Amino acid sequence: MNKELRKAVIAGNWKMNKTRPEAKALIEELKPIAEKATCDVVICVPFTNLETAVELTKGTNIKVGAENVHFEKSGAFTGEISADMLTEIGVEYVIIGHSERRQYFGETDETVNKRTKAALAAGLKPIVCVGELLWERKCDITKEVIARQIKLDLFDVSAEDAKKTIIAYEPVWAIGTGETATSEQAEEVCSFIREQLTEKYSKEVADTITIQYGGSMNPKNAAELLAQPDVDGGLIGGASLKAADFGVLLDAASNG
Ligand code: PEP
Repeated sequence: MNKELRKAVIAGNWKMNKTRPEAKALIEELKPIAEKATCDVVICVPFTNLETAVELTKGTNIKVGAENVHFEKSGAFTGEISADMLTEIGVEYVIIGHSERRQYFGETDETVNKRTKAALAAGLKPIVCVGELLWERKCDITKEVIARQIKLDLFDVSAEDAKKTIIAYEPVWAIGTGETATSEQAEEVCSFIREQLTEKYSKEVADTITIQYGGSMNPKNAAELLAQPDVDGGLIGGASLKAADFGVLLDAASNG
């Protein structure tokens, strides 16, 4: 088992939640809780909260991430934000290809790949989301879907850049539904992702890449999920909106 070669990362995905005063209150509550964590702690917040989050977390162990990034440097892309715009205000991480972006905003593996490369080129750490639909799992093509996403999403991403990338395995049927993959299901796919990364790069590279599980992770199921040999952390939606719940997940990852 090579878990010690990689850092456990717990990343909150706030989605479209929290006004600025609410964000301030949650971050202030989170700071003393996160302080004890030995895993990496990231909060991915709406664009309007990024500067506030960066400011309030200065000098703490909490890192800030965005929830999306565009692949062009600038230009006529109304409503989009570039990687340089994120780095210039101190953002370090960015979620790319979340299933909600794929489902509601027409993101494809091609745009996920472009966004990932743009993020890496600007020095951001991408959290690239992959995962199967319920229908795909029922049809027994989960591994085909995941293998395809890994190939397409990381197309032309060098081994050095792959080491800076986090992969989040997020079965779409488990996101925001309260339904969690069992720890066996999570481990099966996370270890399959590591096999794909080994084939694409090498064992040495694959062993250093953080692979998260995401999908209704909560204080009750986190310890078991995070104890799996290939689950190196979590991408957390609902449970990242309450400091106490997020704190339990940080403890579980710090001990996992
Ligand atoms: C997510 O948004 O990435 C997620 C995993 O959400 P939840 O934890 O609410 O299922």
